[in-house]
Amino acid sequence: MITCQTLCDALESWAPLEFQADYDNAGLLVGDPSMAVTGVLVALDVTEEVILEAVEKGCNVVLTHHPIIFKGLKRLTGRTEVERCVMAALQHGVALYAAHTNVDSIEGGVSHALGTALGVQDLRILEPRTSLLYALHVHTPSDAAEQLSEALFAAGAGRIGAYDACHFSVSGTGTFRPLTGANPSEGVIGERSTVQEVQQHFVVSKEKRAAVQQAMENAHPYEVVAHSWIALENSRSDVGYGVVGQLANPMPWDEFVAHVKAVLGVRALRHSPRVRPMVQRIALCGGAGVDLLPRAIAAKADVFITADITYHRYFEAKNALVMMDVGHWESEQHTIQLLADYIRRKFPNFAVLTTTSLTNPMITV
Ligand SMILES: [Zn+2]
Repeated sequence: MITCQTLCDALESWAPLEFQADYDNAGLLVGDPSMAVTGVLVALDVTEEVILEAVEKGCNVVLTHHPIIFKGLKRLTGRTEVERCVMAALQHGVALYAAHTNVDSIEGGVSHALGTALGVQDLRILEPRTSLLYALHVHTPSDAAEQLSEALFAAGAGRIGAYDACHFSVSGTGTFRPLTGANPSEGVIGERSTVQEVQQHFVVSKEKRAAVQQAMENAHPYEVVAHSWIALENSRSDVGYGVVGQLANPMPWDEFVAHVKAVLGVRALRHSPRVRPMVQRIALCGGAGVDLLPRAIAAKADVFITADITYHRYFEAKNALVMMDVGHWESEQHTIQLLADYIRRKFPNFAVLTTTSLTNPMITV
């Protein structure tokens, strides 16, 4: 039996919830974590049709990219589409899980899937994220330092890019006096002790912080561990929004437009004026990614493909590149397969289906 919690844990080991944007609401939104999963239906959006499709097909989890609950819900009376979807999910015992900006942020995520579908190669993240790293400083008796660093490395501390076991330490003298009620591993109640210590420095990614804290408490000899967590502004090249890469060969503009329309199944798209007759370097961001435009220009992209570009934003292309709006659903459609493939690889023991409901609410004629 696979529980809903096991499914959530698997999704979050791939796309940690710590990576979601501040405004987001990713994760398990409706449903009992202890429920046994009978099947998963994957879609971009939750609609009543998608929930009924899941019920018909024997799936009690609907996994989507967009969260159905985004703002606070104050009543459940069926007045809005959001309320009706939540009520339908509860009535039919269907759990709703959203993998949103956390899946936008990982390598191999939403924008990677779009780039790969369009044949864009050598993809790298366009806007590396910041504020996802901590420095951990721990004071440890010298003779216990090695054991502690091994325990913290095992929990994920000290990983920087393609390096692990990264660590720095300085020796010094620590003092402490255990007071009444303390249970010190060394020293005497009421007397000040002086100990040769090392201060160990580790970098810890945000999603590993809880595990590293636990490992530190388990492995450290002191009853009270002297340590500090310091939030870092350093960026992470492995986590971020949008991607940039190259087509295998330069493509004439008209051919590129036809290629994008064919691959994404769009009848029409919008773009700013053509800049160069040939294109090769392509920046992409699935969904509403227009704020990444300065990054796309700095990355010397010929074209920046995203969605939800409003009129005035097209002026910002400034002959540097072509901004192209292919539609929100259209730019994220490959996320359905991306999510389904991940769950199938992890759990071969229940059905993982992709929706046959077209949830795109925007029609182009
Ligand atoms: Zn979206």
